[in-house]
Amino acid sequence: MAYLKGAMEYEPVIGLETHVQLKTRTKMWCGCANVYGAPPNTQVCPVCLGFPGALPVANEEALRLTVLTGLLLHCEIPRFAKFDRKNYFYPDSSKNYQVTQYDRPSTREGWMEFEFDGEGAADGIARVRITRAHLEEDVGKSTHFDRHSGVDFNRAGVPLLEIVSEPELRSAEMTYAYLKTLTQLLAHAGVSDCDLEKGMVRCDVNVSVRPKGETRLGAKIEIKNMNSFSGVRRALEYEIPRQIAALRRGETLRQETRRWDDDSGITEPMRTKEDAHDYRYFPEPDLMPFAPTESWLEEMRARVPELPLDRKRRFVRDYGLPEGDAEFFRHHVELGNFFEQAVKAGGASKPLANWVINTLVASLSAQAKTVADLRFTPGQLAELTELTASGRISSKIAQEVYTVMWDSGEAPNSIVARLGLAQVSDAGAIEELCRQAIAALPGPVDDFRKGKVAALNSLKGQVMKLSKGKANPQLAGELLEKLLRAG
Ligand code: ADP
Ligand code: MG
Ligand code: ZN
Repeated sequence: MAYLKGAMEYEPVIGLETHVQLKTRTKMWCGCANVYGAPPNTQVCPVCLGFPGALPVANEEALRLTVLTGLLLHCEIPRFAKFDRKNYFYPDSSKNYQVTQYDRPSTREGWMEFEFDGEGAADGIARVRITRAHLEEDVGKSTHFDRHSGVDFNRAGVPLLEIVSEPELRSAEMTYAYLKTLTQLLAHAGVSDCDLEKGMVRCDVNVSVRPKGETRLGAKIEIKNMNSFSGVRRALEYEIPRQIAALRRGETLRQETRRWDDDSGITEPMRTKEDAHDYRYFPEPDLMPFAPTESWLEEMRARVPELPLDRKRRFVRDYGLPEGDAEFFRHHVELGNFFEQAVKAGGASKPLANWVINTLVASLSAQAKTVADLRFTPGQLAELTELTASGRISSKIAQEVYTVMWDSGEAPNSIVARLGLAQVSDAGAIEELCRQAIAALPGPVDDFRKGKVAALNSLKGQVMKLSKGKANPQLAGELLEKLLRAG
């Protein structure tokens, strides 16, 4: 039996409770500012300090951001939600309770997709179900000095969103990718700045292991209050083998709370987990339930931005772009919008993507400008790519036209006409230039006749030079060959 245990394969099971500070001007129930870095206890009032008789009023922007997050995470938004008191005694709460949402949260049963390669993912995409995202208030922050401790209540009453995942994460790497995507998403949607340095994201990491193939969950270990993603990854890289080793030795793991010590790189027991009923949750009597109307929800739905991953997929699907280009436009939203407008103005997508990603990006960065500073329109860029595609100008001339267009915003067609840049495809004129090239470069002519086909390139280059880049290069090549073989 012991032999079997030692040989058994185990798999980790991880679920996260992620707390993010919402990006509101004021706190959750009062008018105190939601700011970082103010001197201790300067952003407080009777409401957030919980003085008897002080009445809270819900911050509507926090409710909006909560529902917006729910929609981003494909959650159901119940038409009835409420607030509850979670009662406990600890110096970081002067009220002796924290307002949260217990059994009727504002959002539930959603999912999030993220890019990840490995166990738990298929085709580079992982999907994790979200149990709920509910609204609660932050508490004060304790600081321990040599001979005393202090509490700063500036953070007390700041709106927090707790996003709970199902236990579906399968590795430290996958958990890291989940956290990265989740916070990028929330920052992108303006829900939270997700600034880790400022403690805006904190998570509780729940992890257990079980024999491969087992469907029941093992005893969970909760690692509390992690405030860096690399810390989460390292804590899991420590904790998973620790649990597996314990099981292999035949030990039984018990549910417990542990603390990660970043310096020594280990987790250690903290205290056994309180059962939920220890908190004696009860409905918050001073706050109305939150029952969004259909029209309010409709407004929220209209505010949901396109998810970065959806955007990437759409660029591949609708414009036939390679993954790399789509990835670029997912990160550079303004350039992606410019590209889309150019395609809608009639340009071909791949050449346009090349222009934007290579040329436009380079000129913007060389001049420290943004898309908003551009003198030319997406339609004009489309026109430029069409001029090249139809062979009216060479790609070299296109660069020249682009420079003029960049400076003046003049339309490419007009630039080409005004400066006489149209490609010469008149066989007679080009043949004349070919003769001149052959006369000027006896070396390459000789080489070509001896069978060195590559020598044709020097001659072609000469024709292009003589034509100031306007000769149709393909035609020039054909005519050169004809003349050389003839004579
Ligand atoms: P509570 O914190 O109230 O005890 P739950 O245990 O239901 O709540 O879930 C808290 C988090 O722990 C969730 O993210 C959930 O996915 C995760 N979780 C629950 N059970 C396990 C387990 N056995 N192993 C790993 N994660 C778990
Ligand atoms: Mg918990
Ligand atoms: Zn206040």
